[in-house]
Amino acid sequence: MEKMIYLDNAATTKTAPEVVQAMLPYFSELYGNPSSIYDFAGKSKEAVTKGREQIAQVLGAKKEEIYFTAGGSESDNWALKAAFEAYKSKGNHIITTKIEHHAILHTCEYLEKERGAKITYLDVDENGIVKLDELEKAITPETILISVMFANNEIGSIQPIKEIGRIAREHGILFHTDAVQAFCQVPINVDECNIDMLSSSGHKINGPKGIGFLYIRKGVKIRSFVHGGAQERKRRAGTENVPGIVGYGVAASRASSSMKERAEKEIAIRDHMIQRITSEIPYVKLNGDPVKRLPNNINVSFQFVEGESLLLMLDNYGICASSGSACTSGSLDPSHVLLAIGLPHEIAHGSLRMTLSDETTMEEADYTVDRLKEIVAHLRSMSPLYEDFIKKNK
Ligand SMILES: *Cc1c(COP(=O)(O)O)cnc(C)c1O
Repeated sequence: MEKMIYLDNAATTKTAPEVVQAMLPYFSELYGNPSSIYDFAGKSKEAVTKGREQIAQVLGAKKEEIYFTAGGSESDNWALKAAFEAYKSKGNHIITTKIEHHAILHTCEYLEKERGAKITYLDVDENGIVKLDELEKAITPETILISVMFANNEIGSIQPIKEIGRIAREHGILFHTDAVQAFCQVPINVDECNIDMLSSSGHKINGPKGIGFLYIRKGVKIRSFVHGGAQERKRRAGTENVPGIVGYGVAASRASSSMKERAEKEIAIRDHMIQRITSEIPYVKLNGDPVKRLPNNINVSFQFVEGESLLLMLDNYGICASSGSACTSGSLDPSHVLLAIGLPHEIAHGSLRMTLSDETTMEEADYTVDRLKEIVAHLRSMSPLYEDFIKKNK
């Protein structure tokens, strides 16, 4: 195989070398348990505090408001289940959207089926953006929580989070956002956006896998999710993942300080690829908002093409991409996000997501588009549907 071209950074990212370097001592030399009292363990405790500070700084939060978890899915589960438990005497209604990650959607289904919650799943417009008037209309006296993702993992659309936070605050409703894709990709300030809870994950920002955090604003009455020891202010028991927290802190500092220049570079490559794909390949559509979009996200649908075949043929050239989210590929249902923006099943099936990193080059981008052109033409040449379509439109 030739050199790999990795365009699946929304699924996971490479752990940055400086992140790995920072973590290593906490496996082999400084392995003390942060809860122990001797000086040696104090080094681990200091490292955890530093990681917490590095992350809090990116959000404009206090370090006591950062609670480490085992990743984005756990943070999402915790926010929804524990907020529901803590606030259900006030009401049982939660508002979310149809385009959330499954960590939110499946948790909502559980709360609905097993715990008596009522859930409103908001529609989005054709660009994948929540409609604020519909959000306001969905609010009832029973509404205790609004959970809307900051940016979508499939189509990259960025939600009007400030406005949603303002609406939630005006109605005295808690506001949670799944910011796994947005954290360190776009500027976030929890106070400016009135965010009460926010989920993030290490491995999406060139940090390690298996570490995440939930930001919980001071004063939010959320219960413990994992019972046991007194770690994380008694709200999430279990010996801290010290190397993971150290790596996460370094990854967050690194990614936030390079955010602006990285975004500029990625947007240039992203828009170049989108421009070439949509002008050089016929019967193609860009999914997601053209402007309110993550700097590294490209999502396109090709008519008369199967996304899975496309992925396999790209893989033959060492190009790693995705047809939906990693969690849903392997199932034949089209992505719930693409259906929510109104794509017909057959178009949604021909979708391709490519997500860039700061290492992606213009040469890789052009090579990928060149191969894509050949592959799409080849797959269409074997499609009876395409043949019929061309005959009819002659
Ligand atoms: C990846 C992802 C998650 C899950 O995070 P994990 O750390 O893999 O559990 C949740 N939400 C979104 C939007 C994601 O992209």
